[in-house]
Amino acid sequence: MNDAPTRSLPNDDVTAVSKAAAGAVLTIDLGAIRENYRRLKAKLGSVRCAGVLKADGYGLGAAQVASALMREGCDIFFVALLAEGIALRKTVGAGPDIYVLNGLPPGSEPEALAAGLCTVINSGVQLKAWRAAARGAGRRLPAAIQVDSGMSRLGMAPAEVEAVTKDFGALDGIDVKYVMSHLACADEPRHPANEQQRMEFERLRAMLPAAPASLANSSGIFLGPSYHYDLARPGAALYGINPTPGAANPMLSVLRLEAKVAQTRSVEKGAGVGYGHAYHAEGPLSLATISFGYADGWLRRSASAAWFEGVRLPFLGRVSMDSIVLDISALQPGKLREGDLVELLGPSQSVDDAAGHAGTIGYEILAGLGARFHRRYVNA
Ligand SMILES: *Cc1c(COP(=O)(O)O)cnc(C)c1O
Repeated sequence: MNDAPTRSLPNDDVTAVSKAAAGAVLTIDLGAIRENYRRLKAKLGSVRCAGVLKADGYGLGAAQVASALMREGCDIFFVALLAEGIALRKTVGAGPDIYVLNGLPPGSEPEALAAGLCTVINSGVQLKAWRAAARGAGRRLPAAIQVDSGMSRLGMAPAEVEAVTKDFGALDGIDVKYVMSHLACADEPRHPANEQQRMEFERLRAMLPAAPASLANSSGIFLGPSYHYDLARPGAALYGINPTPGAANPMLSVLRLEAKVAQTRSVEKGAGVGYGHAYHAEGPLSLATISFGYADGWLRRSASAAWFEGVRLPFLGRVSMDSIVLDISALQPGKLREGDLVELLGPSQSVDDAAGHAGTIGYEILAGLGARFHRRYVNA
């Protein structure tokens, strides 16, 4: 990953896969991502707003998304892995702060330093290693300290935070830029864990040297100002995933995914369709097979549909690796032809809708989007 050539900056088409050669076209609206950032900023007032770019910007292209957000003044990014941070540094240049959420693997501190990354310290072990790196470098090194306020995933446990208060030199050489934590249930505004975590965050950060604080992810921003602190860390909402499930989506949709028709056919009543003959035609049907399947990140268990000019075309039978069969009987004969594109994600079916049909969340749909699409970036 870190050896990948630097990608060109956003323009209409940065992909290596031509539209003619691809089975599907993914269009990413960078203007909509910028608008979503502005909407979150408007909710946050004077609180700073970072951009979370882990998993290649939730599958949409960390380099392109970072460049779009920087045009809105965003200068702090979070990735999950050191490798992602190194790759991102190459595309964004020296300016923005980049934090590695999962912390640094032991022994990788020199690589992080060379790339000018800030780490997130999640454990006493990581704290010691960063302190040693600072000693070696002969200067103070920036970091965020993550405390576990009740998710039991990443971050220093309360006992480790208490140990820091007792060890006079524990933070020597560490420039604590933020004290942060992460919410487990922010997408459920009435969940009691939200306020419990906020109170625990207050208790833990009071034990550490005074530093700006950060707690809210996308949904956390919508829990209200008491969750905003000094820096918010939205990911999903930037990419159009609804941060307020159950209520109208306050964000713009940012992508469109279209798959190409490989062939069409007519079948008689009783014809078995796809692997395992999981479907049998209940009467004569018109079918279209699209060049798109689970290798493109569309889950095999997904019972869903594609759309063509506003007409719903249900999936029939199983999702294959590289193909899905659609029932196109609702269209005029000859209307849909080989090479035409049908919509899988976009105005007719949001990422959250598609996730609902697959029994998952929009995050998993985006992060799983395949690598063989023709990608277009628009409204840069
Ligand atoms: C992924 C992540 C975020 C962003 O969460 P969204 O729900 O996508 O907004 C923020 N903080 C941490 C620690 C994360 O892991």
